[in-house]
Amino acid sequence: MTIEIQRIGVVGAGQMGSGIAQVCAQAGYHVVMTDVTEDRLKAGLATVNGNLAKAVAKEQITEGDRTKALSLISTNPDYIGFADCDLVIEAASENEDVKRKIFAKLCPVLKPTGMIASNTSSISITRLAASTDRPERFIGIHFMNPVPRMQLVELIRGIATEDQTFEASKAFILRLGKVTTVSEDFPAFIVNRILLPMINESIYTLYEGVGSVEAIDTAMKLGANHPMGPLQLADFIGLDTCLSVMQVLHEGLADSKYRPCPLLVKYVEAGWLGRKTQRGFYDYRSGTPVPTR
Ligand code: NAD
Repeated sequence: MTIEIQRIGVVGAGQMGSGIAQVCAQAGYHVVMTDVTEDRLKAGLATVNGNLAKAVAKEQITEGDRTKALSLISTNPDYIGFADCDLVIEAASENEDVKRKIFAKLCPVLKPTGMIASNTSSISITRLAASTDRPERFIGIHFMNPVPRMQLVELIRGIATEDQTFEASKAFILRLGKVTTVSEDFPAFIVNRILLPMINESIYTLYEGVGSVEAIDTAMKLGANHPMGPLQLADFIGLDTCLSVMQVLHEGLADSKYRPCPLLVKYVEAGWLGRKTQRGFYDYRSGTPVPTR
């Protein structure tokens, strides 16, 4: 039996949740989104609106496409809004406890056939699935940032994920116009298993005084042809998310090579989380990014 997906729920209206809501609405799905406060929901919707307006200005979509996509997204601070969703995608902060509490609230209201996906960057899908009442209908659907622009989506099956859930998720990603890559369920999957240790190493390079923020980013942009320097990228991802991923790698693989750099810990403790808080390895408050070290 194939699972028909029509209505999508999104938990978390941050940079990833709002992007996921946008691409789903643009593909014609009905979307309901929740977050912890009305303000966060408003900010998420404003991001979607802004992105779509930019796409109209660049003539990538029409004004009609923009209004249609916006009309398909609704917000609801209450989980009851998810009752008849075919797929709920959890895109809340990268913290296992937060995610488990969300699933504990979601499962009693979500219809029995509803699938649940986590957009986690690193946490075990098998472990998250085991905390729900439907591990066979649970899967990792890992979008990349920024969601509307990035082509790739990683699909991660937990040990109990059924073929139907996997096939329906693959068809869903295809309808979004994106490309699937399949990863086994190991800490940080494929992209972040490779990317985050590189970012962590760039922070060690800064911490040990090998180079300044500017020198490190210029080196990797012009010397390795990366479109963004690793510290710029860390700010873009969010330093809290970078730290969580390194902690999951360090604990999950028990190898000291994944030890999070103490300087990354310090920035997160300061609340300097990168672009989303206006300060990280760069200070964005004046409009022009200024290195903070
Ligand atoms: P973010 O900080 O921009 O947004 C997280 C949102 O989750 C916030 O709006 C927060 O209020 C909300 N939230 C927290 N607790 C909640 C709860 N109990 N119920 C509902 N909402 C809650 O973070 P983000 O970058 O959007 O990351 C979200 C998820 O996506 C994480 O699991 C992260 O690892 C993953 N991810 C991030 C990136 C990236 O580059 N930032 C890329 C791929 C995947």
